[in-house]
Amino acid sequence: MNKEFDIAIIGAGPGGVSAAIYASRGGLKTVVFEKGLIGGQIVLTADVENYPGFEENMSGFDVMDKMRKQADKFGTIFKAEEVKEIEPEKKIVKTANETYEVKAIIMATGANPRKLNVVGEAKLTGRGVSYCATCDGALYRGKTVAIVGGGDSAVEEALFLTKFAEKVYIIHRRDELRAVKIIQERAFANEKIEVIWDSVIEEIEGEQFVENVKLKNVKTNAISDLKLDGIFVYVGINPNNALIKDFIEMDEAGFVITNAEMLTNIAGVFAVGDLVQKVLRQVVTAAADGAIAAFVAEKWIEENK
Ligand code: NAP
Repeated sequence: MNKEFDIAIIGAGPGGVSAAIYASRGGLKTVVFEKGLIGGQIVLTADVENYPGFEENMSGFDVMDKMRKQADKFGTIFKAEEVKEIEPEKKIVKTANETYEVKAIIMATGANPRKLNVVGEAKLTGRGVSYCATCDGALYRGKTVAIVGGGDSAVEEALFLTKFAEKVYIIHRRDELRAVKIIQERAFANEKIEVIWDSVIEEIEGEQFVENVKLKNVKTNAISDLKLDGIFVYVGINPNNALIKDFIEMDEAGFVITNAEMLTNIAGVFAVGDLVQKVLRQVVTAAADGAIAAFVAEKWIEENK
């Protein structure tokens, strides 16, 4: 049993790395486990324009590289190990290589946008196919874009995109939106937005960048072409909750419910970032969650010695 560390952070996106900076700077021996690339979803974003303090655009990769170096500076240990199991009450974290016993755990495993799973989507991701209007919307000034989905996220982001794009289609698979009435009404009143009802994307076409989509009307089965510069997919996100779903309180969509201290229903187990039920999923909010969780965890460890 490895008892080297005070706190284990699972996931090295903005929430996890921010927690690591605060925890290690606060004097806790801190380990961060990451099974993939350090940085989380934001490393897929070309330009981060809205993270406070960075006047010049930076790539998501560069933002996270700086965050990681800051955590290194305070002594955080990053381990490229996949966590296989957690025993929350005992604060035990098991990877394929080793079993760790710590004093507190911060879950920062994030979420993944649901994909359309159509031909062309993977090839053109980052080349016109995006899962984040807030991140990439400004790249589409004067262009024609489509949002796929009919929920709150899709309709809110369609409204956001009208700040930049000339034309915003909402492609929805049914004949009514799922989004709350008030934002539906805003969308219907916006001249730049046009809803394409009862339709799904069959294929996304383009050589280097998105050029066209093949649409299928699900009622008539008619296929049509729609010329587009960008497609924003908002068909829901899946929280990465597999490690904790059996014991942590979550909402019906699987997002972890925390209190204002980022504490879950289990003492000493915190959750931060996209994994958590919240209204805005951004680097800045994940980083804030991480800071709060680490600060409270430090106090909790001190009080529970
Ligand atoms: P969501 O509510 O699950 O909506 C997903 C949308 O995508 C639905 O309209 C769904 O169609 C459609 N869809 C799902 N799979 C699809 C597929 N394969 N192809 C085409 N369309 C597909 O997801 P969300 O909008 O991301 O919202 C998630 C949660 O966050 C919700 O509880 C929402 O209320 C909340 N939220 C709240 C706010 C706010 O209050 N301001 C803002 C954003 C999100 P159907 O309608 O036919 O199922």
